[in-house]
Amino acid sequence: MTVHAQPATLAFPDARRVVEERALTLHPGHAELAPLLRSRGRVLAEDIVADRDFPPFPRATRDGYAVRSADLAVLPATLKIVGEVRAGSRLVGLLGRGEAAEIMTGAPVPEGADAVVMLEHTARQSAGVVVVERAVAAGENIVPTGSEARAGQLLLARGTRMGFAEIAVAAGVGKAQVSIYSPPRVGILSTGDEIVDVEAHPGPSQIRNSNSYSLSAQVEAAGAEPVRLPTAPDDPVVLKHLIEEGLALDLLLLTGGVSMGKYDLVEQVLTEFGAEFFFTGAQIQPGRPVVFGRAWRGSGAASATFFFGLPGNPVSTMVTFEIFVRPVLDALCGAPPGKLRFLTARLGREVLVKTGLTRFLPARLSGEFERTEVELVRWQGSGDAAAMARANCFLVVPPGRERIASGEMVSVLLR
Ligand code: AMP
Ligand code: MG
Repeated sequence: MTVHAQPATLAFPDARRVVEERALTLHPGHAELAPLLRSRGRVLAEDIVADRDFPPFPRATRDGYAVRSADLAVLPATLKIVGEVRAGSRLVGLLGRGEAAEIMTGAPVPEGADAVVMLEHTARQSAGVVVVERAVAAGENIVPTGSEARAGQLLLARGTRMGFAEIAVAAGVGKAQVSIYSPPRVGILSTGDEIVDVEAHPGPSQIRNSNSYSLSAQVEAAGAEPVRLPTAPDDPVVLKHLIEEGLALDLLLLTGGVSMGKYDLVEQVLTEFGAEFFFTGAQIQPGRPVVFGRAWRGSGAASATFFFGLPGNPVSTMVTFEIFVRPVLDALCGAPPGKLRFLTARLGREVLVKTGLTRFLPARLSGEFERTEVELVRWQGSGDAAAMARANCFLVVPPGRERIASGEMVSVLLR
């Protein structure tokens, strides 16, 4: 075990790249079979293929009449109604020349027919006869058999994170149970002499441990399992024991104790576990002192555990989780590490900052349709968790900008 000394404060894109690259070296745990609805937010450990053609029959997409398009060469065309096809039923036999079948949306188009005329373009003359007033092209209002997917075709690849659309696809092929990766267990270790449990009555200079809760919520939302460790005081011996516990898990998130203060001991204690630091800061605000690396639980440990030292200020903790921790969790969950997705929106109110840092500032998107606007929320800096609760996104200010005028298009990161 060696102590790697390569600490550096990286520009945001470089720090992000380091996280994404390191994440690629990580693997998920074992797979388990779960009822389909339990898979939401989790990652598939199996490929899901079409068990038959989709659609399994030529599907009518309109209520109307199944016809032979060639019969509509001369309009209006009078056709003989030979039957009715409801969704779930079918018409046996071939539709002949001059014939039509009444058909409902979702029903199989009978053989011989090659188009569906919408009900609105027809008139019923008598019980057995329909008059068609408009021509249809062959194939119109029909989704052909197998056009969405062929039997055996891959629909969802292993590594897919399950959301409602993916769950619909799995349900559509009869997967009442799916194989998913077990969620990684993520240690959450808050540090600081001033930090007390939420149940405690804080003394005048004490602070309740909100980070442990926000991080647990973020970890769960990322499809992983939070394991909240006891709060560590700014004492190297106790901190060391708790870090050792945390390193036994799949990932360790520490909060606080990574700044330059006399009692910011996290990096020092991690060094005692042979920590290799991938970076020890990022040129961002909030969250500049963020630390990312890996360490070994004990001298004989086979593999390293990744850790993040997140700054203790509540908004810094939240931001650094969102912009750095997610790719690592993706990988541990079994999914390819995701990219950050930025939107652009029109800035409502001028922004003034200092240059040099990429900023992720609590902001609020509002408006609708093409009139989306974004504005910073009022905040007192990175300790102001309530400001983050008023925000619904981060306004991203590039390091070179010090004034962004109202009306400019700006980059936004959703939360
Ligand atoms: P630190 O990063 O340890 O210097 O802490 C920065 C600020 O965040 C201080 O004001 C701490 O009191 C606060 N803080 C640290 N940890 C937590 C926590 N777990 N919950 C809420 N606030 C915290
Ligand atoms: Mg502290």
